[in-house]
Amino acid sequence: MSRLTCANPYCQKILSRENAYFADKKSTKAYCSRNCFALALSYEIIDAHQRGLKKAERRLKLGALLLKNKLVEPDQLLAALEQQKNSSQKLGEILLESGFITSKDLLRILALQAGVAPVSLDLNCSLKLKDFFPEELFWRLEFVVFLFNEREKELSLAAADAEDLLYLSDLFGRIFPDYAIKYFLEERDKILNILAANFGSNRYLKEKSFGEADNKKIVHMQQDAINFISFLQSIKAEDVRVLTEKNRLQISGRLSDYRFRIFFEP
Ligand SMILES: [Zn+2]
Repeated sequence: MSRLTCANPYCQKILSRENAYFADKKSTKAYCSRNCFALALSYEIIDAHQRGLKKAERRLKLGALLLKNKLVEPDQLLAALEQQKNSSQKLGEILLESGFITSKDLLRILALQAGVAPVSLDLNCSLKLKDFFPEELFWRLEFVVFLFNEREKELSLAAADAEDLLYLSDLFGRIFPDYAIKYFLEERDKILNILAANFGSNRYLKEKSFGEADNKKIVHMQQDAINFISFLQSIKAEDVRVLTEKNRLQISGRLSDYRFRIFFEP
């Protein structure tokens, strides 16, 4: 009898072969469960995002798709990738500006790959799989899972960025290979608001920049805003939404029939 250890580096429990979870038939890596497998993949992604590695991989993946569908020539792709090294632009944008591809083709390929459609989510929608993945992953990839049905094996998620969706489809396809997964695009602001409502608003507010105001004042304003949001949640206000403007923060929502809008300034 061979002994196995869980391949999640943060777990490494000893497993018996009968109880081990394998991601696919060819895989030699064993995990305690699908959840442990998901965590291991999540940590890899979070780690790679911190080192800024995955972006390059994603670019290549989009490039490979475009080549495969004969939408760009190899030398055009190489030129665009070269140009991208010194810019903050997305690969798709560069290809568009260079006239190598039409916006229609670009959209088509992104949609084709991910089965993407726009969606309009309810701000009060509850985040599924919230305890399945680390919170960090949701914030890094900016996505929400808004439908998860284990019995019917259905899963729907929305992300803010079509390029991230390519990456998410890879991740979810590996963790839930037997699920019918639907991918959608949603406004970034809405995704962040839903994440903030489900996890608490701290990270959302922290990652916003507020002009030239000094740091202490901003921290103070953010703390006030966070306290205010928890207060709104405690009195069951609905549609609570945080919007950032140049150097102030707007919190809006609804209390029974009354709509309110409050501003915070550093
Ligand atoms: Zn494990």
